[in-house]
Amino acid sequence: MTLTVVGSIAFDAVETPSGSRDRLLGGSAVHFAIAASQFAETRIVGPVGDDFGEGEYAILRHRGVNTDDIEHIPGGTTFFWAGRYHRDINQRDTLQTDLNVFEDFEPKLSEASRAADVLFLANIQPDLQREVREQCERARFVAMDSMNFWIESAHGSLLRTISLADCLLLNDGELEQLTDEPNLTRAARKALELGPRFVIAKQGEYGSALYSRDGYFGLTAYPTADIVEPTGAGDSFAGGLMGFLAAHESEIDEAALRRAMAYGTACASFNVEGFGSERLYELDRAAIDARVAELEQMTRF
Ligand code: AMP
Repeated sequence: MTLTVVGSIAFDAVETPSGSRDRLLGGSAVHFAIAASQFAETRIVGPVGDDFGEGEYAILRHRGVNTDDIEHIPGGTTFFWAGRYHRDINQRDTLQTDLNVFEDFEPKLSEASRAADVLFLANIQPDLQREVREQCERARFVAMDSMNFWIESAHGSLLRTISLADCLLLNDGELEQLTDEPNLTRAARKALELGPRFVIAKQGEYGSALYSRDGYFGLTAYPTADIVEPTGAGDSFAGGLMGFLAAHESEIDEAALRRAMAYGTACASFNVEGFGSERLYELDRAAIDARVAELEQMTRF
């Protein structure tokens, strides 16, 4: 089964209390695709500028990510994001967001990307997420992410996009902000009323929670002590989750989602153990499966 993702393709600059990097391959769609490609053929859609070179393409292709729908905008500059982490690594400040080539981007998907069974609308302007959703008419499962930046600056558009998704993934704080509801359970219930069948709250080191109209499931994070830099953890979680679902032949129901969350959790745990998604570049599937097996010892899913 094929999987298409649209989202940011970026260069990131990050500062942590123990070190910094000024130019990392990042972006929500990139972190997602590097994790998802462990499980299923993943096609990435998004624009890049002249500064996006062979080295960046090589990282994606090395993981088997299909880059045919990365659109090079001549004369353009790739999306740029800068952030600084606090001593409590769960806290970060955004220092800079330069949309650059995303300002005028109009997604044009190839026939192969439009034919995806499973579609992920990673974090990007919600109008763009919707344009891609509308082009992928045959997708049998559509999930999406967003963030405070879009909740504040494009609220109406974001609500319209959410109404078209089967599953909404947000951080707990973002869900509360979206619904103006300080209690997470109530926030998730309100989000379900916007249209999706499933809502997943990402809770950083505390794990993740799945809400549906008649169910709840909570999963702890994989207990890693080696946190280096967490940018993209949420996207790697989504990549593992959606990759697993794309490879899943039968119906995408609550049981499938619970197991998919374990794969997402394992991918996210590797993501935080290095800068950007570096730790996943050379990872083999057996390492992911081993962490899923450990999680299964702790929780039944
Ligand atoms: P996460 O740590 O899961 O929130 O994902 C961080 C990634 O999202 C970074 O690699 C950034 O390049 C990207 N990002 C940050 N802000 C935005 C934004 N406003 N729109 C799209 N992508 C963003």
